[in-house]
Amino acid sequence: MPATFRRTKIIFTLGPATESEAMLEKLIGAGADIVRLNMAQATHEWTRTVIRRIRAVSIRLGREVAIMMDIKGPEIRTGDLAVPIELKPGEIFDFTVKPGTARENAEEIRSVDVNYRDLVNDIRVGDTVLVDNGLIRLEVLAKNDARIRCRVLIPGQLASRRHINLPGVKVNLPSFTAKDRADSLVGLEAGVDFLALSFVREAADITHLRDFLAEHKSKVGIIAKIEDQSAIINLDEIVRACDGLMVARGDLGIECPFEELPVIQRRAVRTCLTQGKPVIVATHMLESMISQPVPTRAEITDVANAVFELADCVMLSGETTIGKYPLECVQILDKIACRIEAEDDSAAPQLVEVNTERMRVLRSAVVLANSLPGSKLLTFTRYGTMVQGLAALRPVSAPILAFTPLPDLHRRMRLLRAVEPYLMPFASEPDITIENAIIHLRRLGRVVPGDKLIVATDILSQDRLVESVQLRTVS
Ligand code: PEP
Repeated sequence: MPATFRRTKIIFTLGPATESEAMLEKLIGAGADIVRLNMAQATHEWTRTVIRRIRAVSIRLGREVAIMMDIKGPEIRTGDLAVPIELKPGEIFDFTVKPGTARENAEEIRSVDVNYRDLVNDIRVGDTVLVDNGLIRLEVLAKNDARIRCRVLIPGQLASRRHINLPGVKVNLPSFTAKDRADSLVGLEAGVDFLALSFVREAADITHLRDFLAEHKSKVGIIAKIEDQSAIINLDEIVRACDGLMVARGDLGIECPFEELPVIQRRAVRTCLTQGKPVIVATHMLESMISQPVPTRAEITDVANAVFELADCVMLSGETTIGKYPLECVQILDKIACRIEAEDDSAAPQLVEVNTERMRVLRSAVVLANSLPGSKLLTFTRYGTMVQGLAALRPVSAPILAFTPLPDLHRRMRLLRAVEPYLMPFASEPDITIENAIIHLRRLGRVVPGDKLIVATDILSQDRLVESVQLRTVS
């Protein structure tokens, strides 16, 4: 386990490079906080098996990580091709939406089917079509109810079932597909902690998923993945509706002009900080390490930037699914994050809205912690709101030691910046619970006599919950 306390959390995506018990042990042991399962590439059998494995390894290591199931969301893609098509610059090319039209094309214009019929209604002449993660670019010249006629601007080889992006086009596909529903049911049954919803375009997308979760009496947290221009337009309402946001820079970098990406990331992180919601910066953080043992200087700076911005989590994708150096990636994220966090960030503005009594009390706890170097925040939570409030206030250097009696909340707290979760039953007397927590922390060596603890809790007083802040010295 890394010796230094790290405030920024690490998420890694599970794949062939990391799915074995031995590798899971290494990555969790190196300090990974959350394991992401990318359902775009997963079978249900694999999902159930790896969830069991992650839980078993976590318990063995005494470090329960959270599991995030990333559901694929709506996707537009090209159909099957007998052989790949080599698209030439300036070539006229058709995307057909009625099966069979491709083969009946009499004008000898090459074409491919697309899996989304309403594409002809959503798209306009002059729009851009990007294929295969933006590698091939076409411009729409004309359309009718069966096909979209394009000109190739950036050529490339078009193979079967390639992903299509339509920058700036408002697509009318459902946000939660039949596949997402089936995958989510497996996730709920196997006990995942978060569902990450892909291509969230508006708050209503999250409401639909929340209704589905309520139907199944699930407390799983919803992470909204922002990946296109609609999400940026509706950012405020999306952040308000979700439990956490993922800046999914892979698709964002295709759907938006690339020079906008850093601006979008900064805005998304700030919106989350203002609303007190956790935020994940994802994709291409250490991309070169898929094949190289050391990161590029630009990657180091990119990771540092996310930490300077005060994001809750940084995330690895290809680096840990198919990469050659998955353990080194986690170790390098840990090293960069710890170094950047050690820089004095006391000048960082406190953005979170403090507009409730509870937030005012929590702010006084954080102000006290900030004024006592070496102090630690201690909190007790059953619903997660106090601990989320403390994390949102971004204490400068105090860790947030958060106790809960609930195993699922204990895992979900892994998402929150600077929060160190502890699982412990609560006594009926709040004072005894606090004492038990301090004894536990002393046994672990996490606190020593003389340490200052700022205890933020809601105590029962004459049958009423009263928020309180106490300063205690460990004896
Ligand atoms: C992304 O696009 O950055 C992302 C995380 O989503 P996915 O890997 O599902 O494409």
